[in-house]
Amino acid sequence: MWLERTDGPHEECGVFGIYGHPSAAQITHVALIALQHRGQEAAGMASVDGERMYNHRGLGLVSDVFTREDLARLRGHAAIGHVRYSTAGQNTVENAQPLTFRTHRGSLALAHNGNLVNAPALRVLLERQGSLFQSTSDTEVVAHLIARSVQTNLIEAVRTSVSMVKGGYAFVLLTDDRLIALRDPYGLRPLALGRLGEAYVVASESCAFETIGAEFVRDVEPGETLVIDAGGLTAIAPAQPTRRAMCTFEHIYFARPDSDIDGWNVHAVRKKLGRILAERHPAAGDIVIGVPDSSVSAAAGFAEASGVPLEMGLVKNKYVARTFIQPSQALRDLGVRLKLNAVRSVVDGRRVVLIDDSIVRGTTSRRLVQLLREAGATEVHVRISSPPYKHACHYGIDTSSKGQLIAADHSVEGICREIGADSLEFLTVEETMEAFGVPQDAPYPFCNACFTGCYPTEVYPISKEQYDVSQQGVGV
Ligand code: SF4
Repeated sequence: MWLERTDGPHEECGVFGIYGHPSAAQITHVALIALQHRGQEAAGMASVDGERMYNHRGLGLVSDVFTREDLARLRGHAAIGHVRYSTAGQNTVENAQPLTFRTHRGSLALAHNGNLVNAPALRVLLERQGSLFQSTSDTEVVAHLIARSVQTNLIEAVRTSVSMVKGGYAFVLLTDDRLIALRDPYGLRPLALGRLGEAYVVASESCAFETIGAEFVRDVEPGETLVIDAGGLTAIAPAQPTRRAMCTFEHIYFARPDSDIDGWNVHAVRKKLGRILAERHPAAGDIVIGVPDSSVSAAAGFAEASGVPLEMGLVKNKYVARTFIQPSQALRDLGVRLKLNAVRSVVDGRRVVLIDDSIVRGTTSRRLVQLLREAGATEVHVRISSPPYKHACHYGIDTSSKGQLIAADHSVEGICREIGADSLEFLTVEETMEAFGVPQDAPYPFCNACFTGCYPTEVYPISKEQYDVSQQGVGV
């Protein structure tokens, strides 16, 4: 039977794990705050002390979810943590991660960043075979696969189970005596390894290491599994090497500028994107303004390359969650109004070149152009440091429906009219790849599917035959 895709929960989340530190929960708490930009709807943590597993999850920001008492209860030398974003209707505490289970193998906690494209199909199969699900999270599918695996070795059970899910992901798992971390075979979602004294740490982004005083060791390789226990670190290479397809949008928008992903510093890439934008898509303006915070680096690059002065013409209210990842259009509209203000003394009477990293739905751009005009800008020329975002992402970013994307059914001129700008230009995919210095002969080691529609993995529908679980050593 072919299963039609339904637009279920799609997450852009952050994960963290630590093994071998007496204050594992406290360190995880600080790391989750550093990863807060990756998800603001829920947070959670699980820890182990060699005797039992502790966990705590809740809805809201990390600072709302954990009290001092909660952290004191999360005892032990190892912990994993998660910050979560979900679509509307899925933001329940049952879906907050890490999910924890008691299995015949002992305690198991799981958390993941990304989206498992065949999770709905696997879930139907598992439910038909008697599995009872507690949540609507993709992550629980993997927990059931692990629990039902016929593999006697836990690591093999985890690897076999995770190999059955397709998509973009970074997993962290905690057992009574081990921390396990896995990155998807394409490297779609980031995952980094660090050291904090004698302890090992893993995180979605290396900015978490800076915050906790850990040293960056390396990126987890696509398809690699790390097992950390009392004996140290064991790295298990992927069974079959796959073409790399790191998410370009992590660099363009999601990641923090102080993170390094797969050898590229996010700020440096954004600045280069801005320089290329100025060289290939110049605009006649008196000042350059970057949309805070994610476009500030690109605006600096544009200003440097064009010689047009960079100004702070927009001020951000830091206490409002990111607009793009608010769960409904109404909240997004409200978020834009709350979040940014134009500085009249900077903008009044000037021709503004507004640099933004992307136009996804168009809401923010329209409001920004309006704000700048209201503050006295005589012209507003918008330059975008990425190509038009035309296709849905199936790998963990909340653009699962093409209908939400303004570039899906508008030309560049049409978008320009919609947002009310005097001119609008985007980078091409080739110009975007130039910023990474990768050879221009494709295939690039990046996923550009939201720009090109060419997905690195199969998406949907998924057939039962393609995921014939009985042939993969799992007892479902
Ligand atoms: S489709 Fe776009 S947002 Fe999604 S993983 Fe690929 S590059 Fe990233």
